[in-house]
Formats: sequence, C-alpha cells, structure tokens
Amino acid sequence: MSAKTIFEKGRAGRCTTYVTPPGAPPPDLSQLPAAALRAKPPALPELTEGEVVRHYTGLSRKNWAVDVGFYPLGSCTMKHNARLAEQIAAWPEFFAAHPLRPDGSAQGLLRVMYETERMLSHLCGLARFTLQPAAGAQGEHCGMLLVAAYHADRGDRRKTVIVPDSAHGTNPATAALAGFKVRTCPSSEEGIVDLDALRKLVSDDLAGIMLTNPNTLGIFERDIQEICRIVHDAGGLVYYDGANFNALVGRFRPGDMGFDVVHLNLHKTFGTPHGGGGPGAGPVGVVETLEPYLPVPLVTEGPEGFRFEEDRPKTIGRMNAFAGSVLIALRAYVYMRLLGTAGLRDVSGSAVLAANYLKERLSTVYQPSHPGRCMHEFVLSAERQKDELGVRALDIAKRLIDLGFHPPTMYFPLTVPEALMIEPTETESIETLDAFIDAMLQIEREARESPDLLHDAPHHAPVGRLDEVAAAKSLDVRWRPDSTGEGAG
Ligand SMILES: *Cc1c(COP(=O)(O)O)cnc(C)c1O
Repeated sequence: MSAKTIFEKGRAGRCTTYVTPPGAPPPDLSQLPAAALRAKPPALPELTEGEVVRHYTGLSRKNWAVDVGFYPLGSCTMKHNARLAEQIAAWPEFFAAHPLRPDGSAQGLLRVMYETERMLSHLCGLARFTLQPAAGAQGEHCGMLLVAAYHADRGDRRKTVIVPDSAHGTNPATAALAGFKVRTCPSSEEGIVDLDALRKLVSDDLAGIMLTNPNTLGIFERDIQEICRIVHDAGGLVYYDGANFNALVGRFRPGDMGFDVVHLNLHKTFGTPHGGGGPGAGPVGVVETLEPYLPVPLVTEGPEGFRFEEDRPKTIGRMNAFAGSVLIALRAYVYMRLLGTAGLRDVSGSAVLAANYLKERLSTVYQPSHPGRCMHEFVLSAERQKDELGVRALDIAKRLIDLGFHPPTMYFPLTVPEALMIEPTETESIETLDAFIDAMLQIEREARESPDLLHDAPHHAPVGRLDEVAAAKSLDVRWRPDSTGEGAG
C-alpha cells in the first residue's frame, strides 16, 4: 500500500489538459498590488484528474466508516444515516440556498427550521430550541452561557457548577470555558450520582449542575427528580447533556424530569452524519424562564410567514454564522417526519434492547462495570484480562480491527479501569450483533491461548500500533515540500 502524499506523486507540468490547455496565456496580475503577490508560485502538486481521484479514493478506503461496517463506539452513536434525508438535503432548493437570501424567498427552509425547533421542543418537553450550535460541545457552551446570563440578569454572581465524575469530558471543559468553577461529584457504588455527596457540594454559590441521563455508564439516573430538587432549592439550574437522547427519545422528556437547559446531538440521536460526513448540530432547548437569553436569530412565524427574529434584547448573541448547520437540521427534520412519534419510540426501544443483548452475552467473559440492565450502551472492564493474562483493553480493541470491527470507546469513563464502552445502536441486525459477539469471544480465547497475537494487533490495517502519547502530544499533520517549510501546508 503506497504511503506517498499527493505532493510526492505530483510531477511538474502534469495536469488535466481539458481544464488548462497547455500554452494558455498566464492570467494578468498587473492590477494587483505587489504586496499581494507571491514571490514564487505555491508548491501545489501537479497530477492528472485520474490520479487525483485514485489518490483520494484510496485514502477514503483506508478509513473506517459506518457505511463500511459495525461501529460500536460508545457514547458516539454511530448509526446508519437515512439515505432519504441525504437525498432531500441535496435538492438544489435546499442545498444551493444562499444564507443571505431575503426571508420572503426562503420560506421553505425557514419552515423546516421552525418545525424542527417545534418538534424538538415537543420531544423534550421544553419551551423553545435554538438550532445554532454546530456540535454537542458547542451546544453545551451555549447552554452554560444561558445559565450564566440567567444568573447575571438577576444580579446573582454564582460561580460553581457541579459535574459528576462519570461525565463526558466536554462537560467540565464547557463549564470552565463559560467562566464557572467546576466541582466534581462522585458516583455511588451503583454508578449513579451519590445524593449525599451532592448535598454536601451544594451552596449559595451554586450556579447549576451538568448531568447526563442515562449517564456515560449507560445507567439511568433514577434519582433525577431528587437531584433536580436539591439543585433548584439551592437556586441553581439543571443542565442536561442529551447527546445520547437515543436512549430515551419518545419515552421520557427531560423537561418533565426537571431539566432547565438541554442540548441534543442531531448527529447522534437524529441520524445525521458526524464530523467527516458533514458538520454536526447541537441544538439547545430551554424552559420558558431562559427563553429571553437564547442566541439570535430565532425563526418565528408571523402574519407574513416565517422570518428570522434578530431583535431580542437579552440574547447571549450569536453562536454561529447565519442560522447554523441548516442542512443538518433538515436531515433531522426528515428523520423525525419519517419515523413519527411511534417510530422514535421504537428507536430508543431497539437501541436499549440491542445494548442489553450484547451486554448479557459479553458479560459471560468480560466483567461489566455494573450489574443489571443498561440503557443504550454499557461499559465492560478488561481488568481481569489485564491482571490474569496481561492483555489490556487497548489490545482487545486493536485486535477487533483485524476481525473487521471498529473498536469500542476505550478508557472512558475514567471511573472504570480498562474500560470498553460499547454502543450498538438500533440500526444493526441481530446477525451483525452476533458476529461482533463471536469476535469478542474469539479475542478472549486468544488472550488465553496466544496473547502476543493481541499485543501486536492490528495485523491487517494500513497502520499498526502508533505511539499514542506522541501522536496526541506532538501531533504533526503538516507535510512540508522543502526544508524551508514554505509552501503548501
Ligand atoms: C458526543 C458527546 C458530547 C459532545 O458532542 P460533540 O458533537 O462531539 O461535540 C457531549 N456529551 C456526550 C455525553 C456525548 O456523548
């Protein structure tokens, strides 16, 4: 497998002749100020179109994707994205709509945004949503800015935010970024918020708590109403990290549980592509008291149709350019319209069923972090394999690559040693789940019989073991055409 970069493959003067005929006069640059001109041409690779296509197709085939195979990456909800939503998002009426188009000529898109917002509010039992944030983490940031704005508006200088120790790493980071002091709340034996510990952390300075339910261990916080009461009585607000709402959608509404602010990940629960497949979206919903602080613009309906509302005196401002990831909201809209309320209920039912099926069958050889039923995901610990056989969670994960599966999330949450966090999602067949179970059982046998097979895995991937610490700490993804470092980057 060639590891050459596109720069190394290029040959001076090579090009796709029907784009730039050889011998065409160079462009006239005389109108441009000298300071704006390069001293020498940029070091761009020169290839034929066919070579470019092969290069990038080759790279894409080294990637794993949910369109290639099973991707049980806990907390990330890597499920199938409905192709109908993709098709509709590609309609030129949507795809080519200019963001500065006057409201009057964008009624279709504005209606999609308005109705998406209404549907999310309905599903969550909240007053209103903003579709602006472009990711879950940005949704969290928006939500915590709303909490800050609420307290500031009341002349209250509260600075403490409580975050459970099992929380997604973005939660404490978000609270800190929004200017709060983070205090960690330990989990109980059962893996849920320890109420006594929580009561001890509560003070007059409490701005709020950030909670995930089901939490990152895949366990439902059954004391959620009591948690909300404790925080509300102290004058704080309750934030819901609803990235993994696929465990509950159609069954429970965070607004009814007592949450004040919620973010959802459309690219998880609502079947829209993640990251490389397109931008994400982390819409934020609020109870009525927080509505005045929502970012602008919001879409409203008036006598002249739908329009962007910009004039909101207490708004925290903008979170994104224009109206956010509109085409992602459109995909989520199609997804919700396709499934309806009953279909969305089936989504959470099937997601939880698939996770429990895997958990039951894998718990025969791997230790689950907690006994009993899980929600949409669960965590196994490979601590026993490590202590008895010298095989770590990392080795198991790498060996899975050889067997044709994306590894689960590893070493998270931090509260579980040698953690493997598995989320099958509702879009996988029983045959796929069984094949994954077979692979995990085979790996456990290999751990006992030939552990080095696991230590050296993966054997059949484009790259083997990386130095993970160096890769994280001295990330260098830039290729330089010459020692001066000038040119393409
Ligand atoms: C994925 C996830 C996030 C962050 O979402 P991004 O879109 O990746 O920023 C936050 N919290 C939880 C629980 C998540 O699973």
